[in-house]
Amino acid sequence: MQYETSRSSTERQVSSAEAVVRGIGPDGGLYTPVELPHLDQHDLLELEGQPYVRRAYTVLAPFFDDFPEQILLKAIETAYGRDRFSDPDVAPLRYLSESEAVLELWHGPTSAFKDVALQLLPLLMSKAAELTAEERKIVILVATSGDTGSAALEGFSDVPGTEIVVFYPSEGVSSIQRLQMTTQEGSNVNVFGVVGDFDDAQSGVKRLFTDLGFTSEMRASGRVFSSANSINWGRLAPQIAYYVSAYCDAVASGKLRRGDKVNFVVPSGNFGNILAGYYALRIGLPVNRLICASNANNVLTDFFATGVYDRRRPLYRTSSPSMDILVSSNLERLIFEASGHDHDLVGSLMADLHERGFYRIDEAMLNRLREVFWAGWCDEETVVDTVRDVWENHSYLLDPHTAVGKAVYDQYQAATRDDTFSIILSTASPFKFPRTVLTAIAGDGNMEGRSDIELLQLLERLTGQPIPEQLALVLSQPERHLRVVEPSEMAEAVRSTFRAT
Ligand SMILES: *Cc1c(COP(=O)(O)O)cnc(C)c1O
Repeated sequence: MQYETSRSSTERQVSSAEAVVRGIGPDGGLYTPVELPHLDQHDLLELEGQPYVRRAYTVLAPFFDDFPEQILLKAIETAYGRDRFSDPDVAPLRYLSESEAVLELWHGPTSAFKDVALQLLPLLMSKAAELTAEERKIVILVATSGDTGSAALEGFSDVPGTEIVVFYPSEGVSSIQRLQMTTQEGSNVNVFGVVGDFDDAQSGVKRLFTDLGFTSEMRASGRVFSSANSINWGRLAPQIAYYVSAYCDAVASGKLRRGDKVNFVVPSGNFGNILAGYYALRIGLPVNRLICASNANNVLTDFFATGVYDRRRPLYRTSSPSMDILVSSNLERLIFEASGHDHDLVGSLMADLHERGFYRIDEAMLNRLREVFWAGWCDEETVVDTVRDVWENHSYLLDPHTAVGKAVYDQYQAATRDDTFSIILSTASPFKFPRTVLTAIAGDGNMEGRSDIELLQLLERLTGQPIPEQLALVLSQPERHLRVVEPSEMAEAVRSTFRAT
């Protein structure tokens, strides 16, 4: 399968291996499959009785057809092995009611959904380097709103031929998220705080990628940049598999009839997770609606309401920090797909966003998107109320991001009365965000003066659910990476990691 970048039609098409190694197009556009494979009812039927690894292989093989089959299969088996995912089903489905389920995507090493893709991406990256005869050291540059950083560090730590540099917003992540990054071991691992918010970190990284002076300087030193953010196709594609897997599980459990459509509810930020759901639909999964859930940073809700994507607004810090984002990079791929691969349109919209801070799609495209997408947002109080309600009524513990999903799903149901079977994607373990969860189920009087580890223990005691082992471990490790830089110093920060090695 060939990939093309979303912005200019004159860039040459590349193989999947090359798309993975490069991460982003030379024009700043995103690599996207030139055409899509198809899963039919028969394929889905076969997958029902299969384990996660088989399902993932079936979904991914056509997208990575330049990888030798056995190697791809082996990579998938390694990524989703029992030493990496604590649940043998990898992405288990839990039922809240006859028509509502939660897809738990956080059984990997850092307790957030990003592990599903970032346990596989490094294995794909190493192989892709070989397939493209890339002999330079691959330097993975990452901007993180909290969870990508730790998942990428965990995935790339000590992977031969790679170096990883993570930038996180110094004031924008939870203390546990920060510790997961600053305690990371590994000889090829570098972590920096950036003064500012996620968008400052993300636009800084994008600038480094497209800065010709800087990239040629790196090339001269035998290095080439790539990305572990969801702008990298190798990061996005593995996410398609769990949509398919969840569907198979719902059918196998008897809650859903074969061929019936489902809704997916996705707590969204950079729009990578929900876009994988859109690709699942496009390759043939019976999907009714994709429900895009935002926190108070509701730029996506406004986009689906008006057709205007406008980043000129303040960024709020919320209890769901991994969704505190104003520029949702993967919307670019959606518009590219929805316009029938109109490079010129996407190029000019992205130039508008860059130069003017907003863009507008036309009425016809907006209507087409709204046939599939429904979008909503909720405020901070609703997040806490939702965690409490679901705990009291279903004895099920939601993290704040997933609670945003549940709250928006409730709005959707109230607005549409749609009773289609619905799957809420649970993007993080509640133990990753103990303050908000404890406030919801025990009130905030309990937290004065308690350390993170004490909060986790309190949550364990109150709910009878176990603290994920890796989280407890992180809190007992020394911090190794303490540097904080200004956005203008990011290039220098990257250079400094090379001098040190
Ligand atoms: C990254 C993240 C999100 C947002 O996912 P996108 O792919 O950026 O839309 C939601 N919840 C959690 C816990 C995350 O880590």
